Amino acid sequence: QITRKFVLPFSPELEERYSRRLAIITELKNTLEHAIGELSLNYQPKLDLQKGKVTHVEALIRWTNARLGFVSPEVFIGIAEQAGFIENITSWVINRAIDDAAKFRDAKVDVSVAINLSAKDIMDPALLPRVLGLLKAKNLSTECLSFEITEGDLVKDHDKAISHLQAFRDQGFEIAIDDFGTGYSSMAYLQNLPVNTLKVDKSFVLKLHQQDGDQKIVKTVISLAHSFDMNVVAEGVETIEALTLLAEWGCELAQGYYICKPTPADNFITWYNENLNT
Ligand code: C2E
Ligand code: CA
Ligand code: CA
Ligand code: CA
Repeated sequence: QITRKFVLPFSPELEERYSRRLAIITELKNTLEHAIGELSLNYQPKLDLQKGKVTHVEALIRWTNARLGFVSPEVFIGIAEQAGFIENITSWVINRAIDDAAKFRDAKVDVSVAINLSAKDIMDPALLPRVLGLLKAKNLSTECLSFEITEGDLVKDHDKAISHLQAFRDQGFEIAIDDFGTGYSSMAYLQNLPVNTLKVDKSFVLKLHQQDGDQKIVKTVISLAHSFDMNVVAEGVETIEALTLLAEWGCELAQGYYICKPTPADNFITWYNENLNT
């Protein structure tokens, strides 16, 4: 019995998971260090439901490794956070996203590029000056960039997180709370957050037209946001039915496969010109 207990942690399944994890860490560090071109950004538009225009676009990282193949950010972002090198990924993302923001501006695609940040990024006092420097070098205003952070990431060192976010807001950056509804936000907490947008988690949106419970939640989030003078983005909009309900309820922005899947910068520019630049 006792020996079995000690043998358990080294079961073949666990060992496989550990070695996969280790391989991801090793390969990802190598990719970042040597800039081998395995990383890219895809862009997914957010449609303004009143104006019928795309005003924002979210940068979503992609990684295809020579040895491991495609690895989802759902997997490697968490691993990089735990292994302590998420800031290297964020740096790469910010550099590329700002290059692409300049590309969009030059193509007359008037959008703000949203970057996903992790808890550790928010706590980094060097982030804001670095972002401002990169924008300045490309002659871009702070409206060209925005940020998405999850609720959970704000709870860790709340006061410090708030003051750092406030500094971003003071510079004119928009900030959204990502995956809203899945974390721990209380009403009191929401009141003090220097953010201007709530992003309803896709789990409430994917089956919106079929689920009465989801409809109640989404409607409540919309009115909650509006009473705090915040905008709402709904992610995971896969059907015209969901899009129609959201527009009816006064949700400002919608994002999802029904509108456009995440796609490389050049494809996004083509899509924008075909659909919106009239
Ligand atoms: P997220 O920020 O909540 O991003 C939304 C995810 O939903 C994306 O998955 C997107 O491709 C997917 N999605 C968009 N529209 C639809 C839809 O209509 N239906 C469905 N089923 N899914 C949709 P993705 O790109 O695999 O990213 C997963 C997560 O990885 C992101 O969730 C985010 O937390 C993280 N992530 C991605 N890129 C970055 C990054 O550059 N930095 C950081 N820190 N995290 C990132
Ligand atoms: Ca996001
Ligand atoms: Ca989300
Ligand atoms: Ca998510």
